[in-house]
Amino acid sequence: MSYARLRDEWNDLLERRPTFREPLAPYGKILDAWAQWCGDRVAPLRWSAEDCRERWRRGDPLLAAAVPSIRPEEMEDLLAPAIEFLVTIGREETALARFAEAWDRGDVSPAALFPEKGRIGSAAVQERSGLSQEFVAFLAHASLRPILESYFADCRPHLTDSPWNLGVCPFCGGPPGFADLLEGGQRRLACHLCGAGWTFPRLECAYCGGRNAKDLAVLRAEEQEEGYSISTCKACNGYVKEVDRRLRWNAGSALVEDWGSPHLDLIAHRAGYWRAIPTLIQLEEPA
Ligand SMILES: [Zn+2]
Ligand SMILES: [Zn+2]
Repeated sequence: MSYARLRDEWNDLLERRPTFREPLAPYGKILDAWAQWCGDRVAPLRWSAEDCRERWRRGDPLLAAAVPSIRPEEMEDLLAPAIEFLVTIGREETALARFAEAWDRGDVSPAALFPEKGRIGSAAVQERSGLSQEFVAFLAHASLRPILESYFADCRPHLTDSPWNLGVCPFCGGPPGFADLLEGGQRRLACHLCGAGWTFPRLECAYCGGRNAKDLAVLRAEEQEEGYSISTCKACNGYVKEVDRRLRWNAGSALVEDWGSPHLDLIAHRAGYWRAIPTLIQLEEPA
């Protein structure tokens, strides 16, 4: 999908939920940066369906073996609004400055923000800069999307009928950012890091794979908005927000619905649940 359309959807959502317009305004600048960034800077991965399926059969996301080549200076337009977003939060300022300096010196490469097993971004960068995992994960989530989306564009169709049953993105290995219940009742998890989606069982925790019905519960807002819910897991304390598109046919893209529903994150957060892609609440409140 084009980022200009994502931006339009975002504006529509803020029209629908005007109280969020001010607190969520910084997200708009990130979408602007995505829309302005030129995808030609990344050569798409040209793997065949069989190349991809071979990795997926082994349970490996493609990014574990195929890394886009992108020069740090070509990524700066994407990273700058992400850093600004975090500066306005007013925490970890020294660590952010340290990260920015290291980036300028060329000591941090774009690959240092890629998702790894069980985390987002490299532990070394986090340690050297002193940034929290939430801040590093946010930088990745706000800046990598146009790069990874262009890189995997040609491989996207290969996922159809391919073996993949994990709770991480088959392309980049990122954690789920949101879930959609589709027309046929399947659940599709969305990756905000590369824009991909993959089907995943409805009654299984995307984080720990737990299937025990006693651990899995659904939370909803008090002023119930039909179609919106939060899937939680007591075994690992993870949560994923969800929209049922059979009831909300006019809902926006997964990313827009996710960023635009901080009231649901608040409910999950207060109930003691956690997610891997950091929300504004996680960024504002030290762990
Ligand atoms: Zn992904
Ligand atoms: Zn779980």
